[in-house]
Amino acid sequence: MELVKRSIRGSRQKKVLIVMLLMLLMLTLSLVVWGCNPGTSGENKTTTTRLLMDTRVDLTLYEVEKKNSEKISGDVFAEMERLENILSRTIASSDLARLNKAAGKQWVEVSPELFFVLKKALEFAEVSEGAFDPTVAPLLDLWGFGTDYQRVPSEEEINKVLPLVDYRLVELDESRSMVYLPREGMKLDLGGIAKGYIVDQGLEITRKFDIKASFINAGGDIRMYGEKPSGEKWSIAVQDPKIDKQNSAGPYVALLYLEGEGSVVTSGDYERYFEEDGVIYHHILNPADGKPARTVSSVSIIAADALTADAFSTAVFVLGREKGLELLERLPGIEGVIVDKEGKIYYTSGLKDKIEIITQQSKEKSRKTE
Ligand code: ADP
Ligand code: MG
Repeated sequence: MELVKRSIRGSRQKKVLIVMLLMLLMLTLSLVVWGCNPGTSGENKTTTTRLLMDTRVDLTLYEVEKKNSEKISGDVFAEMERLENILSRTIASSDLARLNKAAGKQWVEVSPELFFVLKKALEFAEVSEGAFDPTVAPLLDLWGFGTDYQRVPSEEEINKVLPLVDYRLVELDESRSMVYLPREGMKLDLGGIAKGYIVDQGLEITRKFDIKASFINAGGDIRMYGEKPSGEKWSIAVQDPKIDKQNSAGPYVALLYLEGEGSVVTSGDYERYFEEDGVIYHHILNPADGKPARTVSSVSIIAADALTADAFSTAVFVLGREKGLELLERLPGIEGVIVDKEGKIYYTSGLKDKIEIITQQSKEKSRKTE
């Protein structure tokens, strides 16, 4: 009798154990499903989002356990935030703000990170013959971009600050990591390059962990590492820059198919701008005349790293289609897609086999075959 009771109790325990195991299995499955994006071919990926550098930053990690993904994304965002606190001129305690305050007064010792980005910015200024120029800050302030006081300044005001805008004036002393801005009122702005650098450095952190691939998108500054586990290429969409989307073929005008490591950065006139008397003024200035560059609507640059792609997206935006494409064709390892004001798309010869142009017709065709 005793024996029978024990066996009944034993089978009850077994049942409880089975139910618990089933529940555990369901929990594990739901965690795996949580890590998948249903839009893709069942890849296990995790995306974490944070607001940094005045923009939305998405970090995607492939084939990684939840607990590791939390550690990795924590480290990545901490590093990106640390760099923003050095390189942003609007953060009063930043190294860059300190340097700007000393303009016309003294040499300033800066962190190696700021020195590196500034040195690169000056190199890109040289290559683009001043179309990219980190000394544009006094002009940006005059227009008030990014503040509540955006307005169109007078010619007189622009002419007054133009002598302060010249990258050739910046003095560097590499051995002591020191910088000198020789004219009072001079100011640096790294908004056209720092985001790219910060994205690169964020991605470097992911590389230290055992993961298959990672992808960062900081409001159009994209950097990717590794191969997607599915073996697919990275497909990166070029957004339709039309502010009035009424006549647009869709949200995208082109798709780029890229393999392995690389970066795509887009500069457009459709995200940060203000309107006065029916005219749109956006935040990329031509340092030559102190006014927003008017030639094209968007420029996407493909390069090995986001720092380079970011600087050239701004530079080519200022240079316009002809000069911009000419410059890009001369530079090895850098490609570009330009959308002009009429919505026409131009791209460098190296992209021939990597780009798909999306037109109204191709949209309708794919809709019909869907
Ligand atoms: P996004 O705002 O999408 O990152 P960009 O990479 O083109 O676009 O950067 C634009 C920023 O670059 C501006 O907000 C400003 O800080 C800075 N900038 C504007 N004009 C120039 C220029 N001619 N050269 C260098 N930096 C510029
Ligand atoms: Mg840029």
